[in-house]
Amino acid sequence: MDPVRFGAQGPFVSYVQLALDRAGMMPGPIDGLFGPQTEKAVRIFQTQEGLNADGIVGPATRLALTPYLVGYRSLPIRVGDTFYQIARSYGTTVTALITANPDLDPTNLPIGGTVTVPFSFRTVPTGVPYTAFLVDQIVTGLTARYPFIRATEFGRSVMGRPLHALCIGRGPTHVLYNAAHHANEWITTPVLLRFLEEYAAAYAHNGSLHGQSASNLFDSTTLTVVPLVNPDGVDLVTGALPNESPFFINAQQLAFNYPAVPFPDGWKANILGVDLNLNYPAGWEEAKKIKESQGYTRPGPRDYVGPAPFSEPESAALAALTEAHSYRLTLSYHTQGEVIYYKYLDFQPPYALAIGQAFSRASGYALEQTPYESGFAGYKDWFIQSFDRPGYTIEAGRGTNPLPLDDFDSIYRDNLGILVQGLVLVR
Ligand SMILES: [Zn+2]
Repeated sequence: MDPVRFGAQGPFVSYVQLALDRAGMMPGPIDGLFGPQTEKAVRIFQTQEGLNADGIVGPATRLALTPYLVGYRSLPIRVGDTFYQIARSYGTTVTALITANPDLDPTNLPIGGTVTVPFSFRTVPTGVPYTAFLVDQIVTGLTARYPFIRATEFGRSVMGRPLHALCIGRGPTHVLYNAAHHANEWITTPVLLRFLEEYAAAYAHNGSLHGQSASNLFDSTTLTVVPLVNPDGVDLVTGALPNESPFFINAQQLAFNYPAVPFPDGWKANILGVDLNLNYPAGWEEAKKIKESQGYTRPGPRDYVGPAPFSEPESAALAALTEAHSYRLTLSYHTQGEVIYYKYLDFQPPYALAIGQAFSRASGYALEQTPYESGFAGYKDWFIQSFDRPGYTIEAGRGTNPLPLDDFDSIYRDNLGILVQGLVLVR
């Protein structure tokens, strides 16, 4: 990664600002624009860390800022250290330390060993654009702070980015929530990650989540969260791909064939121009016919079904993950429209309607039949067809994609009931 300095802009500047803000350096608004205030904050931070105060975020400064992105730091244990005293020094709690260090005996800390010290702020940010890099950092942070969250890499994207699955709970009933099949719908990624962190925090504190005991949820279900199905596409939309990258140039050329779709804001596909939610073998031929009649005949920003079902590594990997676990229920998060879809053609798995109605009551979203022209080849369609179990597409929020970050809080509030009910109502 290149140094980030005065005049730079983009998501990586936002992350520098976020980390500085969390470190108490007051960089000003987290807006992705590296101006004088950000530079001043970098210099103050560098001085405090004993680094050369040049105001440029190079490798050493980036390393020093990383704990403030991932939400914890690792410290060597010294003679006389106790959890109580570490908690006081670093503004955290003894409970957070016990949670993050299940293998350490608080009454007998091993001198020379390592202790994970979570910060008091949440790891999952909601005020910055999302990228594959940020999700990697969050996975590192959440699994360190909450070791009962198990992370696996179930595949790789076209560009080789890890596809993460995060697992919480030890119940016999398995549930899968996924987000961001569609690149410009990436606001759904922090929705799932924030939910996972709130759930983990509630479990660690013996608390509750939307009126449900977190430990009951934990013991009855095993939840797998796939927060970012399409990391490459999201990086294109949020500006993380350099303009000179061959993948960026290729995507830009594909977009020329669809001049009516704004670039990159209108991009839904993966980096090769295949719409991942039209790449599943559930009426794929029908989807192809419909989309071709609408003019989507070749790779582009949206609605191209791909050369064959499962032609893309992202959809193929998610299907393989799904087949490997006997998920009783799946939620696929999209934006926008405040609608819940629960059927594939006339397939309606047992309990699908009743659970969908409960979701609708919890969120205020409408429960609807999928419109015919978008009713094929999606993950939900394939899941219902393959397993005859409830699978839902949730179209969160309202407006034009990508929805602004300002909408995050209301989207999260509306969907919290669905996310909890999915664990409660599943059979
Ligand atoms: Zn979508």
